[in-house]
Amino acid sequence: MARPKVAFFDLSSCEGCQLQVTNIGAVLFELLGVIDLVEFREVLSERSAERYHLAFVEGSVSNTEAERRLKEIRARSDALIAYGSCATNGGVNGMKNGHSLVAAQTEVYAEHGAWFPTTSTRALHQLVTVDYMIPGCPIHPDEFIKVIKAALAGLPSPVPDYAVCVECKLNENVCLYDKGITCLGPITRAGCHAWCINNGNTCYGCRGLVSNPNRSGAAAVLHHYGLDAEQIVKRMTMYNAAMEPGNA
Ligand code: SF4
Ligand code: SF4
Ligand code: SF4
Repeated sequence: MARPKVAFFDLSSCEGCQLQVTNIGAVLFELLGVIDLVEFREVLSERSAERYHLAFVEGSVSNTEAERRLKEIRARSDALIAYGSCATNGGVNGMKNGHSLVAAQTEVYAEHGAWFPTTSTRALHQLVTVDYMIPGCPIHPDEFIKVIKAALAGLPSPVPDYAVCVECKLNENVCLYDKGITCLGPITRAGCHAWCINNGNTCYGCRGLVSNPNRSGAAAVLHHYGLDAEQIVKRMTMYNAAMEPGNA
């Protein structure tokens, strides 16, 4: 039986999530034994398929050419998987949406800004149907393996809709707030095993917010711990600006 054709693509991104895939270790060789890897710019030079069983797309959409590419990939794929925060929630690229497009072009390309047409940042599901999402900046290897196994089997693999705090407490971490350090774990979607807190960092909300976040409660706590209004907005939108209503 033919192995399923799997392809990896990138739009506006740092390609860190592609690197995560190449870094997953020995399981990568097991994976390559059951799939037919037909496109992956970072590791393959040839292109060998017109249709894909699974198309993994990294990065957000930030110009009309990327939108055209994404729609073409979608049309050629049985299932489309958005991987990395840039793809699932706009990620850090979404910060651009708080500024005019001309200001963004000028900031990056100075007097040559007009040479590089741009649009507001959009996550993939804001433009096409997305079958699976692997949020995270970068993606967590365990979640990548979980999702590709589910996708190959045609099974669902929803992103958890409870807070990072749940995983953090299961790991028996001392809460950062008890150390006077702010954290977005209470309103951020779990699934990363509280990766940053386990490793001495704080949660910046890279996986996107839970579906019904208590924003005012979270803002009040952040304020209580010393953040002013501007800092609170910046913290909450660092990864999620493209998901704010009316901001895409
Ligand atoms: S989600 Fe983060 S690591 Fe992945 S491509 Fe975007 S910026 Fe890079
Ligand atoms: S450190 Fe952060 S993620 Fe962990 S329990 Fe405290 S607020 Fe939640
Ligand atoms: S702890 Fe927060 S910032 Fe770190 S990977 Fe998880 S969701 Fe992202």
